[in-house]
Amino acid sequence: MLNKKRRYTDYSTYIKNKFGFRVQKISINAGFTCPNIDGSKGKGGCTYCNNNTFNPDYCKPIKPIKKQIEEGIAFFSKMYKSQKYLAYFQAFTNTYAPLNELKQKYEQALKHKDVIGLVIATRPDCITTEILNYLEQLVKDGYFIKLEFGLESTNNKTLDLINRCQSHEDAIKAFDMAKNREILLGAHIILGLPGESKKDMLSNAIAMNQLPIDTLKIHHLQIVKHTMMAFEYKTDASGFHFFTLEQYLDLIIEFLEILNPKIIVERFFSESPEHLLIAPKYGLKNFELVHKIEKRLKEKDSWQGRLFKKIM
Ligand code: SF4
Repeated sequence: MLNKKRRYTDYSTYIKNKFGFRVQKISINAGFTCPNIDGSKGKGGCTYCNNNTFNPDYCKPIKPIKKQIEEGIAFFSKMYKSQKYLAYFQAFTNTYAPLNELKQKYEQALKHKDVIGLVIATRPDCITTEILNYLEQLVKDGYFIKLEFGLESTNNKTLDLINRCQSHEDAIKAFDMAKNREILLGAHIILGLPGESKKDMLSNAIAMNQLPIDTLKIHHLQIVKHTMMAFEYKTDASGFHFFTLEQYLDLIIEFLEILNPKIIVERFFSESPEHLLIAPKYGLKNFELVHKIEKRLKEKDSWQGRLFKKIM
């Protein structure tokens, strides 16, 4: 539900209302690979992909999942004594393995008494009815299960350009298979991909409204080291356009105005570690950008979904 104080439907309020206590995600690198890296779908991966940008120190190199959970909890419990945890299977494609292997990995995390559920990041073309049935059973057993599908764009031309090796139709199919199972369904998109106009980017918001999405993470395009995109950028930067901070704030406001107010927005921004980031460099933390967005929404007297009904 739209948070009147915040003018958009935010994830932390959702978690607070759902659980009534603090819940922290712990990133897990479970040693999966990706069909866009191992050659079964593509080779070399998405052009922007460098999985090192989101692996915190406690999950590298790959340690047993039990140990990653224990170390993650030891780290976060220093800040907040009483909280529960979600195991965040984040690196690479976390449903890309036979079901038995998935069960074994997920259940290692769920064995810890303070882990109350899973957040699983994956590609839309890597989900099966068999996996969904299993996840649905975990929900029935009392666990919180969230599936995060990386869409990145809803424009097939862009998906080709970034070597995503999936189509928007794959995303539609995945959401259709996964809906109505009490699994929280998330999507992830990137704003500022090469070749996309502002109109293309805003049309992602309309496409989100047409999917059974519960949560959305929005990121701006970042060029990080050791990626194909870094090479493309170095060779010819003319195909890349980076927003100034002001432009990005305005784009997010316009995006939010179109977005269904029922969609919980989990992120607007994140910046890769300094030593990996090539461009753009805003030097902001997520909470600082959230503050700026809230301020801009207030100044404009606008809110998430302001134009939702008009555009639908
Ligand atoms: S971004 Fe995700 S889908 Fe693309 S290559 Fe990297 S791990 Fe695979």
